[in-house]
Amino acid sequence: MTDQNSKLSGGDATKIDAIKIDGRAIAQKLRDNLSKAVVNLQQLHNITPTLAVVLVGNDPASEIYVRMKAKQTKEVGMRSIEHRLPADTSEEAVLELVEKLNQDDGVNGILVQFPVPKHISQQKIIELIDPSKDVDGLHPLNAGKLAAGVDGLVSCTPLGCIKLAKHQLGDLTGLNAVVIGRSNLVGKPVGQLLLRENATVTICHSRSREIEKICRNADLLVVAVGRANMVKADWVKKGACVIDVGMNRVTQEDNKEKLFGDVDAQQVIKVAGSLTPVPGGVGPMTIACLLHNTLQATCAQHHIEMPKL
Ligand code: NAP
Repeated sequence: MTDQNSKLSGGDATKIDAIKIDGRAIAQKLRDNLSKAVVNLQQLHNITPTLAVVLVGNDPASEIYVRMKAKQTKEVGMRSIEHRLPADTSEEAVLELVEKLNQDDGVNGILVQFPVPKHISQQKIIELIDPSKDVDGLHPLNAGKLAAGVDGLVSCTPLGCIKLAKHQLGDLTGLNAVVIGRSNLVGKPVGQLLLRENATVTICHSRSREIEKICRNADLLVVAVGRANMVKADWVKKGACVIDVGMNRVTQEDNKEKLFGDVDAQQVIKVAGSLTPVPGGVGPMTIACLLHNTLQATCAQHHIEMPKL
């Protein structure tokens, strides 16, 4: 039983501030292990995992994400290919590019940065990407595999959340886990992954009743809503592990933007056993898990066993 698990079972009566789960350090460790695995893959099989990222338009946040993804892909020794298309690119042209990347044996993973401009269907892109190259884990086949408990590519942010929770709590078996949010991108896959870890899972959403009461029963609370500081201290069970997925940019009085999570960290830190900070929690894990998925896709395409990381 980890320190945190012992707190959850009532082992620690004296309360100090929650442990901040250091997503940056945990992501760095995962990237270090990925680098070693990439060197092995090159030495033993002469294969360099290759990730193609497609960016349509020039949304500033997307620009930053794409730049960070390319930088970290290269840092772990993988190959990064970027396709930057103007915002007025037709849907047909984007789908054609995706199809070309599907057919290209030199590309192991494909990621189209969302959101795409409004005249392009996100769902058509998701469904066109070859499921074996779907490193974002959003294709219905991969979502279905997750729901069926079959190995496949799992959406990066949910995978990162589970890795952080397991890093902090160890075995999640039997824990009461509550997820707020039921999106295909985060909430639903987090729920499925928690089930796979043998937690008892409740998923809440905007129509849920008595959400605070449900949350107070959670040993592990994952919040993916998109509302700054929504979760207050009295929603949280003493000693619980809280994973804050929210990334809300709020303009301050001085007109500068500041990033807030969905959890009111200043309050919740007094009650929780551990908490992921925003920034520096789930965010860094998302990119590290994208690289994990690129390696996984590469290994599966070449019928090589995925190394344990
Ligand atoms: P989304 O698609 O908008 O889904 C939000 C979910 O929250 C929905 O299921 C919605 O319920 C639920 N919800 C909204 N208001 C609620 C309320 N008052 N009480 C309870 N539930 C409520 O958002 P998303 O894509 O899942 O993202 C959620 C947050 O995570 C955002 O802040 C996003 O920026 C962040 N995010 C971060 C990362 C990262 O790498 N750190 C990655 C992805 C997303 P209904 O279904 O009933 O509408």
